[in-house]
Amino acid sequence: MIVFFGPAGAGKSVQGQMLAARLGWRWLSTGQMFRESDDPEVKEILKTGELISDEKTFDVVRQALNNSVDVKRLIIDGFPRTMAQAQWLMDDKNSLGREVAMVIVLEVPESVIQERLQLRGRAQDKPEIVARRMNIYRQEMYPVLSYFADKGIKIVHLDGTGTVGQVHDKIMAELEYNELT
Ligand code: AMP
Repeated sequence: MIVFFGPAGAGKSVQGQMLAARLGWRWLSTGQMFRESDDPEVKEILKTGELISDEKTFDVVRQALNNSVDVKRLIIDGFPRTMAQAQWLMDDKNSLGREVAMVIVLEVPESVIQERLQLRGRAQDKPEIVARRMNIYRQEMYPVLSYFADKGIKIVHLDGTGTVGQVHDKIMAELEYNELT
């Protein structure tokens, strides 16, 4: 598994989908799964930018992993976002024996994120909600990253500004260097 880290607007989804298409891998995004959810509670929380409960998150990830046993490699976008989620993923019985091969952190300044998201124009992308999500992201990111670092997992920080193609090339170069393609 390759874990993609980065706030909404960092380009995780576009990059994750491009990689999956190019390499024949599968892209799994918890944000996407929640946006497609019919659960009224999930819909309410999405509007606020807060995190969905770990329990509900485990349910969607468990199902997605179960449906992906035949896929060579997975790109996990937007998960884990809490310590409990990171611990859950490192447990073999949840990850179905798949290892986290690398964590890729897409770094994009908040000002660029705001610009990108205003162009995207989703209801959940009002400037104050974007700022709130960025705050939550920063609070969650460091403990989760340090947990992965403690486990000896390679963490790569990449500049997520520039064109989609430029960022894609940087990610590919990093995966090739680490013999993950
Ligand atoms: P994203 O598309 O990754 O930015 O996620 C959009 C929204 O979905 C987030 O603001 C959260 O409300 C929810 N979400 C996505 N992934 C998770 C997760 N791993 N844990 C809890 N909530 C999540």
